[in-house]
Amino acid sequence: MSTQEYLTVAAALQLVLDGVAILAAETIPLHEAPGRVLAEPIYARDSLPPFANSSMDGYVLQAADTAGATANRPAALRVLADIAAGSDVTVTVLPGTAARIMTGAPIPPGANAVVPVEDTNEPWRDEQRPLPPIIHIHRQVSAGAYVRHIGEDIVAGQQILNTGHLLRPQEIGALAALGVSRVPVIRRPRVAILSTGDELIDVNEPLRPGKIRNSNSYTQTAQVAMLGAVPIPLGVARDDEADVRAKLQTGLDVGVDLFVSSAGVSVGAYDVVKAVLEKAGNVGFWRVRMRPGKPLAYGRYQGVPYLGLPGNPVSAMVSFERFARPAILKMGGHTNLERPCVSVTVQEEIQSDGRESYIRAVVTRMGDGYTAVTTGEQGSHMMTSLIKANALIILPEGSTHIPAGATLSAMMIDWPETVF
Ligand code: AMP
Ligand code: MG
Repeated sequence: MSTQEYLTVAAALQLVLDGVAILAAETIPLHEAPGRVLAEPIYARDSLPPFANSSMDGYVLQAADTAGATANRPAALRVLADIAAGSDVTVTVLPGTAARIMTGAPIPPGANAVVPVEDTNEPWRDEQRPLPPIIHIHRQVSAGAYVRHIGEDIVAGQQILNTGHLLRPQEIGALAALGVSRVPVIRRPRVAILSTGDELIDVNEPLRPGKIRNSNSYTQTAQVAMLGAVPIPLGVARDDEADVRAKLQTGLDVGVDLFVSSAGVSVGAYDVVKAVLEKAGNVGFWRVRMRPGKPLAYGRYQGVPYLGLPGNPVSAMVSFERFARPAILKMGGHTNLERPCVSVTVQEEIQSDGRESYIRAVVTRMGDGYTAVTTGEQGSHMMTSLIKANALIILPEGSTHIPAGATLSAMMIDWPETVF
């Protein structure tokens, strides 16, 4: 990989994605599976519903017995039994008979329809209501009325979910209904997070002259966690090659899947991450035509994919969004790697320098569409520009001046949230 190439965002993203592979599978308990991605197709071992059952509280009967029935000319049927949900039916419904039945209870042999209780002379309101010996049916129903048939949702043997399917609450419920208590999923990516810089002190330390608190490690740990991946913080390395190597070795020792570092990859005199990676080979330094976030290191360190983000907090967060997020999602087996984008009408004039620019903005609904205002000062050290934002407006490469009222695409960094 050559150094200091100028790449478009799209080309850089493609190289990053090509460099990471979907991780191996593991089998986990169903209750731990929300947010994970299936590693194998799932076939239904049972049908759903597993047996024909009633969709209403009412009377189960033979539809032919209700021919011509109205409230004035009811069909009178002899009541044989009370069939509650969960009961194992023993009665057979013959012509002229019916059974009281609850929602979800099995349709007994001989019956082919249900009449809702509201359409009888016994609209019960409490569970204690005794079973009437005779029921008057006020309405004609056809065969199959209010019957949920066996397998009408899922047929035993059918493939219900494919490899790559994201397990949301509805999939978790369907798997439970089908008796799948352990699920084959792609394992969570283990992402090492390294911050570098002699100026960095930790969150608990009082400020001293020339020092700033390390925020990137915390931002990135949160970003990784919110993707359902496992953050492995490696702490802060000084601007010293041996220290950077030692911290990276800790990551190698615990078997991380990706290194994400911040700072030390531009052209400063103390950019030691760059020196360490250059010596390790297989790492390229790119200038991505992106704003914020021009410097980016990408490649492998001792065989492990490595993404070196810029140090400025805004650049680091936006670069993580643009490159690390899709890479981590891909490793975790996801197929939808992009944040949702919406078309927005910008409310103010926006300037940039021709690089593809990610402008921090507040996007709100207006009429049928969306409107966007920037969060003000866009400096790559301005953390408040991100705190106020729910979106990044994307200025395409080559555009330097966007007039108020123009339509642009905005990447919605707040939706969907994936917290597990
Ligand atoms: P560098 O890439 O090392 O030139 O750093 C660029 C800017 O980002 C400098 O102002 C650094 O102090 C700042 N910076 C680097 N790392 C961090 C960090 N972990 N947290 C907050 N700011 C950082
Ligand atoms: Mg530095």
